[in-house]
Amino acid sequence: LAGRNRNESLEIYRPTMGETYRRRFNLVTQFRQAVESGHISVYYQPQVTLRNQELRGVEALVRWQHPEFGMVNPAEFVKAIEATGSIDILFDHVLNTCLKQSNLWLGRGLRIPVAVNVSVRNLTADFPDRVAAALATHQVPGELLTLELTESNMMADPEQSLPILSALHAQGIKIAVDDFGTGYSSLAYLRRLPVDELKIDRSFIQGMSTALGDLAIVRSIIDLGHSLNLQVIAEGVEEESSREVLRSMRCDGMQGFLFSRPQPIDRFEAWLAARTVRSVHESTEAP
Ligand code: C2E
Ligand code: MG
Ligand code: MG
Ligand code: MG
Repeated sequence: LAGRNRNESLEIYRPTMGETYRRRFNLVTQFRQAVESGHISVYYQPQVTLRNQELRGVEALVRWQHPEFGMVNPAEFVKAIEATGSIDILFDHVLNTCLKQSNLWLGRGLRIPVAVNVSVRNLTADFPDRVAAALATHQVPGELLTLELTESNMMADPEQSLPILSALHAQGIKIAVDDFGTGYSSLAYLRRLPVDELKIDRSFIQGMSTALGDLAIVRSIIDLGHSLNLQVIAEGVEEESSREVLRSMRCDGMQGFLFSRPQPIDRFEAWLAARTVRSVHESTEAP
């Protein structure tokens, strides 16, 4: 019942509700304040091409440094705040943090595409205009922004998502289908929606080395993506052997602990400097 309320103040806590509920209640009700107090930060995880391991972009992943609970991962609080207006505050905060960073990178001649996760609850009619305004404020071209929606979010109501995603796409923004393979995609919609990228869910990547079924699924997703002219990215690559298999299957990009964990900005900058990687967008090599 409480979960259906968009007004978080209507969620009522009673002492009998237990520790799990108390924690969830606190996270939901404290989120706004946490943003204002600077406790909500963005970690960056690089994505590299499989062909020659050039940086192809970074994904922004939110982290909450909670004074009582310590580091809280998004798996715990994103779902909880989705039912409240705070989901828009989360998106705006992460987007603005990333675009400010993009602007700094642009000032140094670095064109690093940034991917931001979006909840289906964010996809209201005014969403494309709000994103356009943020891009304008930070003077970042839409081409440097990717928005990631999980497959189940995207397919929840594709007729409703279509005009919103199209308006974003018209600004040059790229759309990625996150956790692909875990939801139920209508292939007809996959073709109709303005999608640029499929991100293969990490459960298949991790199962691939031991389960032939997972290997077959990964291969099918790569082939499907390519036949629809989409880029295909593997999530959760932890092993060298997976990288080799993915490369042989012509997967386009990868992201995972093998390469780098999500890191706060200063550590990401150090990683970048140490590798002296050039973004694919800067390189002038022939195809
Ligand atoms: P996601 O978008 O699929 O992000 C990838 C998740 O996989 C991240 O977890 C990342 O830390 C983790 N990961 C990356 N490489 C590896 C690997 O090699 N091995 C393993 N075991 N894990 C890996 P994280 O940061 O905990 O985020 C979990 C989910 O929370 C994200 O999944 C995304 O759905 C959601 N999320 C994160 N940030 C945001 C945000 O700003 N807004 C919204 N709406 N959702 C977010
Ligand atoms: Mg994602
Ligand atoms: Mg994912
Ligand atoms: Mg995920």
